[in-house]
Amino acid sequence: MIEIKDLHKSYQMGSNSLHVLKGINFNVEAGELVAIMGSSGSGKSTLLNILGMLDVADTGSYVLDGVPIENMNETKAAQYRNKFLGFVFQSFNLINYKTAQENVALPLYYQRVSRKVRNEKALEYLDQVGLKPWATHLPSELSGGQKQRVAIARAMAAEPKVLLADEPTGALDSKTSYEVMDLIQQINDKGNTILVVTHEPDIAEMCKRVVILKDGVIVEDKKVNQKRASAYVQ
Ligand code: ADP
Ligand code: MG
Repeated sequence: MIEIKDLHKSYQMGSNSLHVLKGINFNVEAGELVAIMGSSGSGKSTLLNILGMLDVADTGSYVLDGVPIENMNETKAAQYRNKFLGFVFQSFNLINYKTAQENVALPLYYQRVSRKVRNEKALEYLDQVGLKPWATHLPSELSGGQKQRVAIARAMAAEPKVLLADEPTGALDSKTSYEVMDLIQQINDKGNTILVVTHEPDIAEMCKRVVILKDGVIVEDKKVNQKRASAYVQ
């Protein structure tokens, strides 16, 4: 699903250059649930943003579902991003003046789905994350955990091939974090490929594979015996 070879990325700041990714080699098969770990500033978000086509690498190759991503023009990149990728962020990134249902329907609007169908689909996806009764509520009326579940429903509504989550539990307490991980595991159980950036070991143990970044390279890449989040949420 994801094939990355010798990826490099530097940030330019005036005359200084910060070499953040120094040759990343990394493959992800369809259906994997991968945790990306590393200390603050180790380049986790940089890597995820490149995987998510929100940013481009300086050198190296990236093939997503058989499609070479490098040197793609912005219009094409936007099309592939909408078609292939779903995003979840630590800060939820919901639109404050739109209801839960309208937030979930948004990616379908960009896919030119009719209003009737996108409202129906949005309600279905809200139902899947247990929030159908909250459809008409604004984000300000939801708890942090509920907001993240809306954000996950929104990401999944576009039926992406890969879900990318950058510290999805970073703003949540442990119990709520496990509820969000339970949902992520359920989505992965259906065969979806998911990458989760986290610096919390208990969250990483709920994935199937852990990749550790340090000083711009992958220093560890191991399979883990997945802990089921549902065991911790009751
Ligand atoms: P992480 O997500 O692991 O905390 P990041 O990928 O956000 O790390 O950042 C890696 C390094 O790159 C940090 O030192 C950060 O300050 C720097 N960095 C990130 N984004 C930019 C940017 N747009 N411009 C300049 N430096 C950046
Ligand atoms: Mg980060």
